[in-house]
Amino acid sequence: MGIPLNVIISSPSGGGKSTVIRRLRRKHPEFMYSLSVTTRKKRKGERDGVHYHFIAPDEFQELIDRDELLEWAEVHGERYGTPRANVAEAYRRKRILLFDIDVQGAASLKHSEPSAVSIFLLPPSWSVLKQRLEARGSETTARLKKRLETARWELTRISEYDYWITNDQLSACVTDCETVIRAELLTRERQRDFGRIDKRLLTDK
Ligand code: ADP
Ligand code: 5GP
Repeated sequence: MGIPLNVIISSPSGGGKSTVIRRLRRKHPEFMYSLSVTTRKKRKGERDGVHYHFIAPDEFQELIDRDELLEWAEVHGERYGTPRANVAEAYRRKRILLFDIDVQGAASLKHSEPSAVSIFLLPPSWSVLKQRLEARGSETTARLKKRLETARWELTRISEYDYWITNDQLSACVTDCETVIRAELLTRERQRDFGRIDKRLLTDK
């Protein structure tokens, strides 16, 4: 495979990235997920090595110093980063790789991997976004306020994304993501690389 299929999924906090990615992975176990490292504290129910690699700030700094992160960013006051090894492994295994990263990470990744495809999940409305974030119950009031402030800024960057998908009904949103992935697999560059075309089509009489 010459051109990998790296799929970035971003949204404001509470926009549904984790939920949509979880569904996609359940339906397509062959998809890989880029497990990030973070200095953020584990939420209730989260597991190290499943949701993130939760590490201390000095360990994160060591990864930066050793140039082991393809990109990293500070989001809501914590650091998050993508290990280079994730991308290398998916490439080696010829697998589709999903990223749950913020708008800064998406811009860096697009810069270093221009063939990456980016999807921005939009909430159906501001009030629904607030409701979902509150209902998730993962944040203190101060952190919730900060996440909503960041959301306003993130929404100003949507024109940098290839696809916009509204996350209203979850199953429709997941189908739209699958459609994007399917269409990207059908581009001529990827068909050439994935070797789906019988070359004899061009020569047989
Ligand atoms: P993110 O990962 O973008 O921060 P989550 O996936 O955690 O967002 O979703 C935030 C909350 O909204 C979760 O409680 C999730 O169950 C809920 N949620 C996500 N998508 C939908 C949807 N389409 N309809 C209703 N609730 C949703
Ligand atoms: P959360 O704390 O809600 O899990 O994630 C907060 C934000 O960090 C989300 O926008 C999420 O997409 C982003 N994020 C998670 N991992 C990474 C990463 O490796 N790099 C970047 N740039 N952002 C990330």
